[in-house]
Amino acid sequence: MAGKMPREIAPGVFWIGDCLAQRHKGKTYHGYNAAYLIAGETASCLVETGHPKDFPVIERHMGELFARGVPALKYLFVTHQETPHCGGLGRVLENFPDALLCGDVSDYHLAFPQYEHRMRWMHEGDEIDLGGRSLMAVEPVIRDLRTTWWAFETRERVLFPGDGFAYSHYHEDGHCGLVAEEATSLDLPDVSSTFADLALFWTKFADMNAYCDRLDLLIERLGVKTIAPTHGLPITDVKATVPKVQAGLKAAALIPESGTNEKIPATGAGAARTAA
Ligand SMILES: [Zn+2]
Ligand SMILES: [Zn+2]
Repeated sequence: MAGKMPREIAPGVFWIGDCLAQRHKGKTYHGYNAAYLIAGETASCLVETGHPKDFPVIERHMGELFARGVPALKYLFVTHQETPHCGGLGRVLENFPDALLCGDVSDYHLAFPQYEHRMRWMHEGDEIDLGGRSLMAVEPVIRDLRTTWWAFETRERVLFPGDGFAYSHYHEDGHCGLVAEEATSLDLPDVSSTFADLALFWTKFADMNAYCDRLDLLIERLGVKTIAPTHGLPITDVKATVPKVQAGLKAAALIPESGTNEKIPATGAGAARTAA
């Protein structure tokens, strides 16, 4: 599947990275821990770094793009401090000595004190100028950590929502490398609901109608044309596809949390605790 990447999902916005196979309810689910490269006229920005295991693939994809004339990497934006999003951060900063790390940069200096002088805080509305286009920090409506920022590319109107629009896909059905609208056999409400259940526990305890309304407002205010999620397939028809993902979030909120992947049936003394 990595052969289909890099894939240009909007002019100058390249989807890179690889799938991660997981077992759930006896099926093989694929998830992405994607990264995206935005090519401006004077600089490029990498959004997310992929899972640590993906770094060789991401590095190769970036190399292919630079060989095709994409401007040098000057910025790395990561949505939050979690391994599938920032697990390649140290290697990006090492390999691209001119690149600055941007976003909420809490705690990264503790892991990489040698790069602290290359870390730049961003707050809502702050922009990184790439020449002819910029990347802006925007409200993270559906988030994992409190330190999350989403990003928005201003020329092609691409939203980078990190853990928002998170859903798996099926390798066997040929979904790898497809955008959401091409994966016609993918049941988006179902896979969105499953991802929320496994990875975004707070959605079980919140009124997801309020969050979905807020998401609609953000999309309308920014005029979003493409959505580039870290875990889901990119969305190129916002009007048609966003309601399906929202239906999954709302459905997941109404059923109890099922716990983590592939449980072994509980027996004996531990069973009562597991059931609770
Ligand atoms: Zn995530
Ligand atoms: Zn896949």
